[in-house]
Amino acid sequence: MKKYINPKVNTYSLPEFQKKYGTETDCEKALFHLKWHNGFVCSKCFHNDYYTISTRRLHLYQCKHCGHQETVTTGTIMQNSKLSLTIWFLALYFIAQNKNGIAELSLAKYIGVTLKTAWALLHKVRKAMGSRDSMYKLGGNIEMDEAFFGGKKEGKRGRGSENKVTVAVALQVDEGVYPKYLKMQVIPDCKGETLNEFALSNIRKASTIHSDKFKSYYSLKNDFKCNMQKYNPEDKSGFLKWVHVMISNIKNNIDGTYHGLDNNYLQNYLDEFCYRFNRRNVNSPVFDKLLKCCTTESYLRVSELCI
Ligand SMILES: [Zn+2]
Repeated sequence: MKKYINPKVNTYSLPEFQKKYGTETDCEKALFHLKWHNGFVCSKCFHNDYYTISTRRLHLYQCKHCGHQETVTTGTIMQNSKLSLTIWFLALYFIAQNKNGIAELSLAKYIGVTLKTAWALLHKVRKAMGSRDSMYKLGGNIEMDEAFFGGKKEGKRGRGSENKVTVAVALQVDEGVYPKYLKMQVIPDCKGETLNEFALSNIRKASTIHSDKFKSYYSLKNDFKCNMQKYNPEDKSGFLKWVHVMISNIKNNIDGTYHGLDNNYLQNYLDEFCYRFNRRNVNSPVFDKLLKCCTTESYLRVSELCI
């Protein structure tokens, strides 16, 4: 029998959510608490005393010591946005609610904004997700492989894959052969130094990396324990099984939810997929995590979104 999962563990119902975050004041209070959970601290001089200045939109908090002014959204992806906080919060609610992600057209309809606004908002959130996950490294047993996205022809590995974007994929598989955490990164090529650079940025040194016998993986031997075996898809041993499942899942997700996508933004979609996967078993509302992630990461302009 399928394991029963309590739907209330990591979600809010819409009435619950609206009761909690239904007004601008509710949302501003929540952001104040996230930003200054131990009380106001000036980001310039770290002084604690402040004046509150009322404006037509958000309150301005002015440091009594140095005069620096900021709002609860300063330095976050919500800074300088024309959208109200309630719309931002509602957008994050729908993004968190849909475990496979949400297309910009659906989001635009749900929160009543233009397609362009929904598109930019989603990419800002994805960037914040990627930035959050970059704080963590995988460790222990890692399955690693490369995947190829886009283009019509089957690309050759490492060369001749002109129409394709190459992605390095690493999956932490814990005891009991259970996939735990995932990293995916667009890489310029499959050279040894490129794969080694990806591994060093995303995997703790001395971890065991399981891969096929592609020559570039020899470059990882200085910093990692390498278990390289010839990969045979007919093999029933389960070698590299989970990393291939992940690659297949993200390709299905991109086709199903996003109906194909612009390769220029592939990294943002990968970041979202990994972020969701890495938090699939959390016991607190995904919205809470997403709100925190989106209010502690730097402000990004649309022009900065392109990878
Ligand atoms: Zn100050």
